[in-house]
Amino acid sequence: MKLLSKHLRLAATDLSNHLACRHVTTLDLSVARSERTAPKWEAPDLAVIQELGRRHEAAYLNHLREQGWSFVNLAEIKDEQRSIAETLSSMERGVDVIAQGTLAHDRWFGQPDVLRKVMTQPSRFGDWSYEVYDCKLTRETKAATLLQLALYSELLAKAQDAEPEEMHVVPGGANFQPEPYRCDEFAAYYRHVKAQLEDVSDNGKVDRTYPEPCTHCDVCRWFRECDARRRGDDHLSLVAGVTKLQRAQLIEWQTETMAKLAVLPIPLNRKPRHGSKDAIERVGEQARVQVEARTLDKLVHELLDVAENTGFCSLPAPSPRDVFVDLEGDPFAGASGQEYLFGFVVQDESGKLRYHKQWCLTPDEEKRAFEWLIDEVMKRWAADPAMHLYHFGGYERTHLRNLTLRYITREAEIDRMLRAHLFIDLHTIFKQAVRAGVEEYSLKKLEAFHKFERTVPLEQSRAAMRHIEHWLELARGDELRKEDQRVMEGYNEDDCRSTASLRDWLEIQRQDKERAGKTIPRPSIEDGAPSEQVDERQKRVAALVAQLLESLPANPSDRSDEQSARWMLAQLLDWHRREDKVEQWQYFHFAEMDDDSLMEERPTLGGLQFVRRTAKGSTLPVDTYSFPPQETDVHAGDKVATETSRSARWNRSISQN
Ligand code: SF4
Repeated sequence: MKLLSKHLRLAATDLSNHLACRHVTTLDLSVARSERTAPKWEAPDLAVIQELGRRHEAAYLNHLREQGWSFVNLAEIKDEQRSIAETLSSMERGVDVIAQGTLAHDRWFGQPDVLRKVMTQPSRFGDWSYEVYDCKLTRETKAATLLQLALYSELLAKAQDAEPEEMHVVPGGANFQPEPYRCDEFAAYYRHVKAQLEDVSDNGKVDRTYPEPCTHCDVCRWFRECDARRRGDDHLSLVAGVTKLQRAQLIEWQTETMAKLAVLPIPLNRKPRHGSKDAIERVGEQARVQVEARTLDKLVHELLDVAENTGFCSLPAPSPRDVFVDLEGDPFAGASGQEYLFGFVVQDESGKLRYHKQWCLTPDEEKRAFEWLIDEVMKRWAADPAMHLYHFGGYERTHLRNLTLRYITREAEIDRMLRAHLFIDLHTIFKQAVRAGVEEYSLKKLEAFHKFERTVPLEQSRAAMRHIEHWLELARGDELRKEDQRVMEGYNEDDCRSTASLRDWLEIQRQDKERAGKTIPRPSIEDGAPSEQVDERQKRVAALVAQLLESLPANPSDRSDEQSARWMLAQLLDWHRREDKVEQWQYFHFAEMDDDSLMEERPTLGGLQFVRRTAKGSTLPVDTYSFPPQETDVHAGDKVATETSRSARWNRSISQN
């Protein structure tokens, strides 16, 4: 966004920023009008993202050059008007590929990565016209990318006097197979967002926006300013666990601050339009302890009522063979992310916690580290059927499941661990058992309660983590810095020990509750063994898969054609069962969530209330449920599954009414 001789010039980034957060437009507009200066901050990962983007684009351009097509690259032309003129002249001459051209119309300006000639429709230049190709590294095409492409396509339509039919995303990967999108399918959406942005720019409706927190905040240069404003306003988003929907309801009730929410009379004497009554009461209680903590300037926590199958009731009895695990991973490394450090702590013979770790900087090492961890857990489980695998948050369980699918190894073990509920997520248990006066229930923020002291300062570990992740993402050939590895090992060990310390603290709280006269059952110990028939089949499949994968490199680009074919065959063995498994895992994951979390997830419905059961003649009875308004992908007629107890069977499904 730039003010050029009293006219605001807008570009594709303004469109995607506006889509991510209206308040960015407000702030950027005030910079363009010289009403304030922009902060100097840049997302620390930006340089790497840009470098990866440049590499991807250069590789795609090379690929196009190799096809023998006529080609111009206008990247060197820095003067905007000259670049526009050169782009038009190249189109007029019918050049096959135009890289880094410039298009402009009215107040809008854009630089698509590539314009490619198509012969499907004529333009003012002749029998040919052009379509837009943009290189993107993200695995999924986002709305912002489509808006950007739609803008380029509109500018292109003006330049060539012909509407392009398609616009294309060129994803990362070896074959550069573009993904086409029909321009007219996205035109209405594009026009809507564009008109909104133009309206804001023209009519100065900017003061009405508020810095509502969103995912873009993590990479936004305005974060400090917005965070300070929210704190100054005692904004509701500072209440741990509050959702957007709940905030909307509370604002409707003129409860716009944490302090006001803290004194909201509970039980509520009215029914919310957004969100469930219980959930709003819960955030009200949360605001109360947070306000108490900040007023008294001390740690405040309360133990919640004991509820079947949740909180303290899902905390197993400690075992000397328990494992406390933590993985460090980078979702942007390689083609599908990479775990680079596996760590866990376990008790030794003297009862002291010992840290064990394996670094894995290549796919082969990642596979070995995964097998090493699972084998260790299985060994300890065989020695004590009452042991568990503790972690904080969903990351470890999700990624261990993904690794078993990626490398087709230790499938039976992971299946059995999941069936036996061996994974214990202390984040979920803490949320269900304790109300704490903190803004977020993160592992680090909770350490004050169990008095855990880290050996590695977080600032130091953040820097080391960034170095390692950038090293992995850029696939640098040099040696990883020993100092960064040392710091990350310390950080990973701290996380494992902190998880163990939190479990011990929860155990003490549980005992206090028992001493106060509460009966708190433990979860049952299950062995998760499959039926004999399934076990026999799994063993046969595992033996065949092992034969096919023997001595195969884990990294796809290191495999010969024959090895790739063997890998494909191994994937095809039991393919359908593996596909079903992903769905089952997701089901069990959702089944363990509370209502608030379910309401935040799009594939699920939270706050289900049983209404009635109707039986017509000899047909099966139909159960009717109601639920509070929420954003969801569940539609009438979809087949859904309910979970009322941990032992509910996967295949118990009901028809939705
Ligand atoms: S920090 Fe967040 S709220 Fe503020 S402008 Fe950026 S994205 Fe919007």
